[in-house]
Amino acid sequence: MWVSPGFDAALFGVLGLLVGSFLNVVIHRLPKMMELEWAANCAELAGTEVPESAPFNLSRPRSRCPHCQHQIRWYENVPVLSYLVLRGRCSSCKAPISIRYPVIEIITGLFFVAMAHMYGLTPTGMVWAALACLLIAQFWIDFDTQLLPDDLNYLILWLGLIASAMGWTTVALPSSVWGAVFGYLSLWSVYQLHHRLTGKQGMGHGDFKLLAGLGAWFGAEYLVALILLSSVVGSILGGVLLLVGRLSNKDIPIPFGPFLAGAGMVAMLAGPGRLEALLPFAFPFSHLAR
Ligand SMILES: [Zn+2]
Repeated sequence: MWVSPGFDAALFGVLGLLVGSFLNVVIHRLPKMMELEWAANCAELAGTEVPESAPFNLSRPRSRCPHCQHQIRWYENVPVLSYLVLRGRCSSCKAPISIRYPVIEIITGLFFVAMAHMYGLTPTGMVWAALACLLIAQFWIDFDTQLLPDDLNYLILWLGLIASAMGWTTVALPSSVWGAVFGYLSLWSVYQLHHRLTGKQGMGHGDFKLLAGLGAWFGAEYLVALILLSSVVGSILGGVLLLVGRLSNKDIPIPFGPFLAGAGMVAMLAGPGRLEALLPFAFPFSHLAR
């Protein structure tokens, strides 16, 4: 299996680019699939005819240019390369293709390289790479639609618990379970308090589930650090969006999910033990886990 660590990491990085290309499909289609399902559920409840529609899922229909409906051929769908060769334009109508597609592919590829570099091509490296994929998807879906799909949140949660039980992460199973419990409860309590005081809904339930999932991956002692990191990520993202003019006061509420997902990604890249050494004040409960 091991040719050389550098070669393995590069190979895993190429796999990451391909998976990133699939993530673009998930980010684009999953929210629409959810909307179709809700519409069908509502129609069923109301006793009206469920609207007939062509199959719409992650594999069907084939990808098309949103401007001219030109069907995208396989060689126009090679991660990053196709974007460069086509110079960021549809081959048929020359409409610009969003830079987001290659950016998401490159970010996913880099996470795969980083995980292979940190853990080798081991179950540990692979499950962390899987978490990176799920967080990247949640980050963009919440940013676009203010939704954090349960399907992905539950995958994050279950995979985190399983990874801990299998010994693929350094988090002991009890810490993983309590991380999920307190991750959920901490944001739920903030939500309840905020709701009682202001009558408004400040956060979605998806946020509680996402922090529960991160708690399962990193352990209960990481929760304070994850919340602190998400506010740092939020300030940086908010600053960047202000600079590029994508944010004005009327855009509030800003979804919280991208900040949580970003915090998870930062903690992942830091690796076990590194954050505790850097930010000891963010780990007030770590003595309980020892
Ligand atoms: Zn086109």
